Amino acid sequence: MPDAAYDNGNIFSKILRGEIPAHKVYEDSDVVAFMDVMPQAPGHTLVVPKAASRNLLDADADVLARLLPVVQKIAIAAKTAFGADGITIMQFNEAPAGQTVFHLHVHVIPRHEGVALKSHARGMENGDVLASHAAKLKAALAV
Ligand code: 5GP
Repeated sequence: MPDAAYDNGNIFSKILRGEIPAHKVYEDSDVVAFMDVMPQAPGHTLVVPKAASRNLLDADADVLARLLPVVQKIAIAAKTAFGADGITIMQFNEAPAGQTVFHLHVHVIPRHEGVALKSHARGMENGDVLASHAAKLKAALAV
């Protein structure tokens, strides 16, 4: 079980409530995907279930069942949109494991041969760059 109760003051809960903007690329009744503001590589996207859970450890199995197909959809589109050689999927549970925002989310990161990931959750990307990456990804999702 998680180390603490879910707290809806977290940044992704605020994005889900529309209180904070995000560069959204996908939304259905259960899941939203938007660009990470501190991307570890161009096209770094976060796939977020609307249902509240702190991370994987306290999530309902049916929420997870609706989340993974969206992760796959974003990963396939991101590979095309960013001409990636591969896709890294990451998901952290609790601070010692690297989690910094305590609403369940999955990282989808386009990778290129020989290019290392940038640091996790450091270095804010320019808003215009994020907007252009979101537009590329949305175009690939629409195909
Ligand atoms: P975690 O460390 O919890 O797995 O990942 C949280 C991610 O959220 C990090 O990659 C970080 O860059 C990203 N992030 C933090 N604050 C914001 C924000 O306000 N908006 C967006 N779109 N991403 C954020």
